[in-house]
Amino acid sequence: MRLSNYFLPTLKETPADAEMESHKLMLKAGLIRKVTAGIYDYLPLGFKVLNSIEEVVREEMNRAGAQEIKLPIIQPATLWKETGRWEDFGPEMFKLADRKDREFALGPTHEEIITDMVRNELNSYKDLPLVLFQINDKYRDEIRPRHGVMRSREFLMKDAYSFHATQESLDETYERMYDAYARIFDRLGLNWVAVEAPTGLMGGSYSQEFMALADEGGEEIVVCESCDYSSNVEIAKYEVSSKGDGKGPSKLKKVETPGMETVEEVAEHLGISSQKVVKTFIYRTDDGLVAALVGGDDDIEEMKLINHLGTKKAEMVSSQQEIKEITGANFGSIGPVGLDDDIPVYADLDVKSFTNFTVGANEDGYHLTNVNWERDLEDVNFINLRKVNRGDSCPECGSELEFHKSIEVGQIFQLGTKYSDSLGGKYQDETGNLNPYIMGCYGIGISRLIPAVIQQNYDSRGINWTSEVTPFSAELIVLGSEDEKSFQLGEKLYEELKKRNYEILLDDRETSPGFKFNDADLIGIPVKIIIGPRGLENGVLEVEFRSGNKEEIEVENREIEQIAEKLGEGISASA
Ligand code: ATP
Ligand code: MG
Repeated sequence: MRLSNYFLPTLKETPADAEMESHKLMLKAGLIRKVTAGIYDYLPLGFKVLNSIEEVVREEMNRAGAQEIKLPIIQPATLWKETGRWEDFGPEMFKLADRKDREFALGPTHEEIITDMVRNELNSYKDLPLVLFQINDKYRDEIRPRHGVMRSREFLMKDAYSFHATQESLDETYERMYDAYARIFDRLGLNWVAVEAPTGLMGGSYSQEFMALADEGGEEIVVCESCDYSSNVEIAKYEVSSKGDGKGPSKLKKVETPGMETVEEVAEHLGISSQKVVKTFIYRTDDGLVAALVGGDDDIEEMKLINHLGTKKAEMVSSQQEIKEITGANFGSIGPVGLDDDIPVYADLDVKSFTNFTVGANEDGYHLTNVNWERDLEDVNFINLRKVNRGDSCPECGSELEFHKSIEVGQIFQLGTKYSDSLGGKYQDETGNLNPYIMGCYGIGISRLIPAVIQQNYDSRGINWTSEVTPFSAELIVLGSEDEKSFQLGEKLYEELKKRNYEILLDDRETSPGFKFNDADLIGIPVKIIIGPRGLENGVLEVEFRSGNKEEIEVENREIEQIAEKLGEGISASA
């Protein structure tokens, strides 16, 4: 590609509205332009990068035995109503109507559409297993689109779906997909980990997310360095402490705590540790109210409550008036003892070993002390409920858990029969019985992978592409365009390298050398081949790698093929 007529509008200034480094660089290097919130144009360089990532993903999906299809973006509401997700997706779904007022959505994902397709075609156990995939735009009206194509409202996803007769068959495909994902992210040069993940709106029984490690990433994960335990913080387990105080139950007491709203105030007043002032929260779920309890120093992880209850939502009751109606007290004094029997109590595993602890008395200005589980509370469900804390230990081996920031680049799910049940997708088994097929689904955020790769590969000069992502493997920079010898050598090498299937950018613009070098570094080209009169006088041209390393290549008395051969070696070595 000749830069003189390549549409590459690079920017000198850092765009004001970009916060994340990858977003700034994607704008500065002329990869994307914003149309409106969360909607972007890809310019030629950005589209080339997107295509290289797409190609890696496609190759590995084909290698794993998945078959490529293309499903519609416009999807009838009727299908989404059959699974109940027309409601569940809520405002995140872009909805529209046709001229006859029939409702449609722009597909945020494709479980409904694909299950509808196969329910009409997959009838026998002999047709299973089957794995299909597509690479297609998705539409989600994100509440806060941000960081450019990292979280946009239109984005490119690879989504695959698998159909099985048995759980073993699903397990086998799930593992094959996991391996394909590992190859994809390795080939893209990412530093990644797979973590256990909540299943969220997709549903299902088990899920893992693939996370690219990045300090600016929005997702927090925990990783054990000693064993292979790793998890999204939202569902992370921890080693439960069994530190009881060893004492038997003392007499339950109601004590005055006038005007005390916080755990710290109550603990100080009573001269006890704040952790033993057990906190109570009331949540409203699909099935009514529940009480959730954690130690005084801990916080509730709502996702854990949602997961455990299998409810779609759990909203903390946060109005003073409502909490008073439910418990009889204001927030500072609520507790589990004497709550309405209809409100089930869920307490964190860590507080199970507590004896003689303190809770609100459900009466303003009072707490109960010396509370004990069995004696004072019936039917408490102990579950993994609190947020993991720094210093927590691995639930599997007891080593300290490490916390990392990351970017979610993919997620795979064991869906079970959620969609085949609700949409009536059945196959006939060997004995003639009809069964719903067991499904898996597997997503990769292709457009999000661009900022993910950049977040791990940039410096003060710009992007530093990894070898399978880079849009060009080398750039030819001719210094002194009026120097005939340099110009001729540049032209010949350009043709010769292209013949050898290298993607080469030729900077034939009439600008200063400094400008050319800066642009090459900004857009992340791994190798610069510099041809100029000064070098040629000494019979050499210079090769500069993005790492800063330099090398001289002899050109005097060499055929153009030999020089190209030598340059090819350098390009390959840098990859
Ligand atoms: P997130 O939690 O980041 O909103 P998600 O879990 O809802 O993502 P999935 O349904 O798992 O997303 O979609 C598969 C992949 O698509 C994600 O792993 C992510 O890489 C990508 N993705 C999801 N939402 C967006 C978005 N708004 N913009 C760009 N990529 C996205
Ligand atoms: Mg996800």
